[in-house]
Amino acid sequence: MYNLTEDQLLIKNMAREFAENEVRPIASAIDKEHRFPSESLPRMAELGIFGLTVPEEFGGSGGDVTSYILVIEELARVSATHAVILSVHISVCSLPILQFGTDAQKKKYLPDLACGKTLGAFAITEAGAGSDASGQTTSAVRKGSGYILNGTKIFITNGGYADVFLIMAVTDKDKGMRGLTTFIVEKNFPGFTVGQAEEKMGICGSSTTEIILKDCVVPADNVLGGENNGFKVAMGALDGGRISIAAEGVGLAQGALEAAIDYAKQRVQFGKPIAANQGIQWMLADMALEVEAARLLTYNAARMKEQHLNYSKQAAMAKLHAAQTAMDVTTKAVQIHGGIGYTRSYPVERYMRDAKIIGIYEGTNEVQRMVIAKNILA
Ligand SMILES: Cc1cc2nc3c(=O)[nH]c(=O)nc-3n(C[C@H](O)[C@H](O)[C@H](O)COP(=O)(O)OP(=O)(O)OC[C@H]3O[C@@H](n4cnc5c(N)ncnc54)[C@H](O)[C@@H]3O)c2cc1C
Repeated sequence: MYNLTEDQLLIKNMAREFAENEVRPIASAIDKEHRFPSESLPRMAELGIFGLTVPEEFGGSGGDVTSYILVIEELARVSATHAVILSVHISVCSLPILQFGTDAQKKKYLPDLACGKTLGAFAITEAGAGSDASGQTTSAVRKGSGYILNGTKIFITNGGYADVFLIMAVTDKDKGMRGLTTFIVEKNFPGFTVGQAEEKMGICGSSTTEIILKDCVVPADNVLGGENNGFKVAMGALDGGRISIAAEGVGLAQGALEAAIDYAKQRVQFGKPIAANQGIQWMLADMALEVEAARLLTYNAARMKEQHLNYSKQAAMAKLHAAQTAMDVTTKAVQIHGGIGYTRSYPVERYMRDAKIIGIYEGTNEVQRMVIAKNILA
């Protein structure tokens, strides 16, 4: 199916089993309680999920991008919260360290990230810098053998639980985007604190916080990818990250589609299951079509990344389409459930709330259109 290799199918099945047996039983509770699913992390570590794309020499399992995407999809099919915790950890923390890190940085950080001993995060957004990353004001000033960072990042996923953060700061304000640098910052560095946690509409089990840097001391050895090269590091990370956010959208749309099919078969009105009505059948058919198209775009972008091709446009297309699919399919799933779908008795309202974020983080739908347009007009 989808030309997946035997290894990829094994990993997909392992993720399905974990999601069904260990995530599904808590998925609704962590959403209702706005609780970070700490109990899942040791199991994900045991299964090797945190080190999926990290080479064996750095403690990972050396899996390919497609395997990783399949795991995100399977987690999101049951809990988008679990999917985003993993997505941020791998796509925008471990992988940029692997891609841009020095040998010493890889040896120091990757083994712990790969075995789940530490959790990763990525911080670029600020109050004045969202879609337009050039509005950054967090500063990094060279002092002795290190840098002093000052500023506040907002909306940082995994913020309250992460140990290792990739943080963008301005090292040369006259150079705009070319004056940004990425730093590997540990939560125990002096001057680092976690600020306010957000109360969110969806992915309620995930941690989204401010990160406050007040004269935070970071060793020069922790510059990732070279001084003033932060924009390249960030954009590389986000290009890859968009594929896994697309997979999150595909997974949660698939979960909502399955829930809608089950309900449509068992709910009887006018003396027959509602699935017997062509109006419901066409809705389900459109939902299945959208999920399939979003999945194929996502797998295509993953394979292009695997083959080291330029996948920027394909990742943006996959994420945009998955975001639209996730919203549309989850909205229809609630519609098919009728009144009970609007309550917390069934999971489809959670899927609908979770779906909204796919079109916002790691670049809004509008930003994806900007990326696509830039590519096709070049
Ligand atoms: C739950 C959650 C988790 C997040 N996790 C992280 C994280 O881990 N790390 C991190 O750094 N950030 C994170 N973010 C931040 C996220 O990436 C930003 O919210 C997002 O990029 C949009 O930025 P903004 O919120 O400032 O919106 P704005 O940039 O202010 O955009 C507002 C609206 O204007 C539109 N818009 C902006 N510019 C244009 C334009 N030129 N043309 C057309 N429309 C435009 C946008 O598409 C959007 O609809 C997270 C956000 C949330 C909500």
